[in-house]
Amino acid sequence: MNTDIVQQAFCKLYPDKILNYSPTINYSGKFKGYNANVQLNKFRGEVTFNLSKKWQEVSREIQIGLLQSLMTKIFKQHKRTTEIELYELFLKNLSNTTPRTKSNPILEESFNRVNEKYLMGLMSMPNFELRNSTQLLGTFEYSTDTVTITSWLLEHQQLLDYVMYHELLHKKHKFSSQGSRHCSHTKEFREEEHKFEQWEMLEKQLNSLVRTQRRKKSKSLFRLF
Ligand SMILES: [Zn+2]
Repeated sequence: MNTDIVQQAFCKLYPDKILNYSPTINYSGKFKGYNANVQLNKFRGEVTFNLSKKWQEVSREIQIGLLQSLMTKIFKQHKRTTEIELYELFLKNLSNTTPRTKSNPILEESFNRVNEKYLMGLMSMPNFELRNSTQLLGTFEYSTDTVTITSWLLEHQQLLDYVMYHELLHKKHKFSSQGSRHCSHTKEFREEEHKFEQWEMLEKQLNSLVRTQRRKKSKSLFRLF
């Protein structure tokens, strides 16, 4: 696999540094849409970029922007490049052109409340899906612009809004919540999340409800968000 593109992305992002990890890039068919993730193995000195196959058809500059954007997340050094801007523009256009096909009236209402109160009404409405899950409270998938919420949350309006807000922050920060938690829940993300009224109390309520749901359903491991 040709890893020149990783080296090139790194050099343009951090011109004074040397990439100390041996890079791998995989284009995989298992991703939906334009998803991608990165894994850093410090112990083995390896960094692996997994990209949806669809990225192969996208221009090299935009792919470099994607790689750089993933690099700033693992190396925790925030920087902007022309390529990152191109990449973000590409994603933005993608989400604007994704047709809104799925919805749910209760989730739309929750979205409207949260958008108005915490996002200055600036966010465009995504697709909504419900799922019966004790594993995940909610997810956001960038490539299909879809917020998925577990159905038992519909009975708890405040908690629903809190989870909705969390998922919409993923949309705002342009990062699907299904990727690595380390990458998507940055310090900035958490700070913004904690602007939600009474978030600490809601967090406790959620945890205890989740435990109840788990006892009801299964013993499988729970992954919050
Ligand atoms: Zn999340």
